[in-house]
Amino acid sequence: RVGVHNVSKSFGSHKVLDNVSLSVPSGSVTVILGQSGSGKSTLLRSINHLERVDDGFIDIDGELVGYRKEGRTLYELKEKEVLRRRTEVGMVFQSFNLFPHLSVLDNIVEAPLAAGVPREQAEAEARELLARVGLAHKAQAWPRQLSGGQQQRVAIARALAIKPKVLLFDEPTSALDPELVNEVLDVIRQLARSGTTLIIVTHEIGFAREVADTIAFMDGGKVVELGTPEQVLVNPSHPRTREFLSKVL
Ligand code: ATP
Ligand code: MG
Repeated sequence: RVGVHNVSKSFGSHKVLDNVSLSVPSGSVTVILGQSGSGKSTLLRSINHLERVDDGFIDIDGELVGYRKEGRTLYELKEKEVLRRRTEVGMVFQSFNLFPHLSVLDNIVEAPLAAGVPREQAEAEARELLARVGLAHKAQAWPRQLSGGQQQRVAIARALAIKPKVLLFDEPTSALDPELVNEVLDVIRQLARSGTTLIIVTHEIGFAREVADTIAFMDGGKVVELGTPEQVLVNPSHPRTREFLSKVL
């Protein structure tokens, strides 16, 4: 379970996250929608220990992510502990970010090896993951030899290799040619069905409706609407949600 508790975050005088709360139970799928600049990526980055929040706190299964301010007391994790806990969160970005100088297989085993998993075991698990994303035959390929959709599927396998408690997706199909979008969404669908805890930022509304248990709509750094796909997409109560949906549907 991922818990975001009254989190705020500013860049200078710009409040990018404004008292955001969200609870993502284990095995569930939450989709975050919202216009450009509404704070979606900043929220994901905060959950992945990549941003320091100013107020409130985030926990994963009761363990603090990063920092917590309570009144004037600041609880802060040691760097080593942050690194360990970061391995509890997998993240897949819009731009696949594979290491260009490593083969597909080596991209996937890199993090597990760094964490001390023996090579033989890491490679066996990597091959299983490649099979899961439909790329068993590409273990020895170089990233540049793959299509965008294939690279993104490798990026998903790489994120899964650390066995994260939650997997975050930040617009995973936005950089893909339209004909490659579905092969990536299929892999995410399959993860959703298999009970992986997912938080997905996407503009694919049809997909959101299909996979989400919960949809959060963000506007101006706030979660202004939170509910089932039916509630948020069919009967939105907030004018900003209605305005957004009228543009994208
Ligand atoms: P998009 O749909 O375009 O990806 P988003 O909802 O993911 O948008 P964020 O990337 O979270 O939005 O950004 C929210 C706001 O915070 C934006 O106005 C952005 O310019 C600002 N911002 C994000 N990161 C920084 C930073 N490191 N320094 C200053 N401002 C930032
Ligand atoms: Mg973003």
